Amino acid sequence: MTWADFVGNSRVVGVLQRMLSSGRVPPALLFAGQKGVGKFTLATLFARAANCEQKGKDSCGRCQSCQTLEALDDLPGLRKAALDARGSANPEAVPLILRPHPNVTVLVPDGAFIRVSQMRYVVRQSYNVPTGGGRAVFLIDQAERLRFDFADVLLKVLEEPPDRTTVILVTSEPFQLRPTIRSRCIPVHFAPLSSAQIESHLQQQRPKWKKTERELAAAAAAGSLATALTLDLDLYRQVRRSALELLRASLRGEFDPERLFAATAQLAGKGSAETRETEDSGSKRERFDFVLEVVYGLINDVLYLRSGASELRLRNPDIQGELERAAGSVEGEGLNRLVKKLDRIEGWQRQNINRQLALDAVALAPTRVL
Ligand SMILES: [Zn+2]
Repeated sequence: MTWADFVGNSRVVGVLQRMLSSGRVPPALLFAGQKGVGKFTLATLFARAANCEQKGKDSCGRCQSCQTLEALDDLPGLRKAALDARGSANPEAVPLILRPHPNVTVLVPDGAFIRVSQMRYVVRQSYNVPTGGGRAVFLIDQAERLRFDFADVLLKVLEEPPDRTTVILVTSEPFQLRPTIRSRCIPVHFAPLSSAQIESHLQQQRPKWKKTERELAAAAAAGSLATALTLDLDLYRQVRRSALELLRASLRGEFDPERLFAATAQLAGKGSAETRETEDSGSKRERFDFVLEVVYGLINDVLYLRSGASELRLRNPDIQGELERAAGSVEGEGLNRLVKKLDRIEGWQRQNINRQLALDAVALAPTRVL
């Protein structure tokens, strides 16, 4: 994969290309934007171009370095190989490090967090001179999951960056990062993709899908290409059915949060028993967030239809009739009450899950660190 294959955010691509061609690359970049817009992918393309032996504007895709770095296209595969290699060793003694190329190191959460041992590895490794005239690139994916209490371990690299070294923090929640870290990075903001961009990409990647399915996936994904590509349309429709029932019942004044949890359980039922047991609190949060996202999407559509602003594009164009009936039967006050209740549940649920994350951290950390 090269810059030319990247979908969307052409302005950001241009900025990164100019940094490399001018040789003025900041030591620390913060890639921020919603999930699924290609932040991590673009970070890997940066690493490839910075280390390509052809030294052109783009990575050539053919030299030894480019070939080796193709491994970055399969992040789950790299992660699994590193976990297998570690076996039963203590994660604080053998940090989870993905290093497909001598100059390119990737950190991903190890359990609920990116561990202190992983950050310390980056600090040690950053003082090694990059090989082959290339650039050392450290990619930190889901940087919002850096152990908050230890994130300052990284400050040393960000403050006194070694030559030809760049750290790229990738996150969909930049404000979860410590201000000390955030303020030392050049922010690079990624915009959501347009529905047209997503639909045209789906046309190439999912040629068997009907036009209406592509439209629904693009609308439901709300700017996230990865969501559109991985969306299980049948499951989405099932979850939406529960969400619509919740919406209708609340509009009649019969709010029932159980429906929300029933929809979440439906999603959980999709994974095998094994994945359910081994999944961490982070993925439970993602699942709950997905269901909430569907409910909020429906509420947005009803608000659009009530205000006559539906040309802004509905998230659920295929059930416009049903949504119009809902919009016609509700007072603005009823919707407000529903949103407030959802917000309360969201806050409560997040608190619960955060507590779970904190407990996981205690369970994982060796006692001497605490
Ligand atoms: Zn190359």
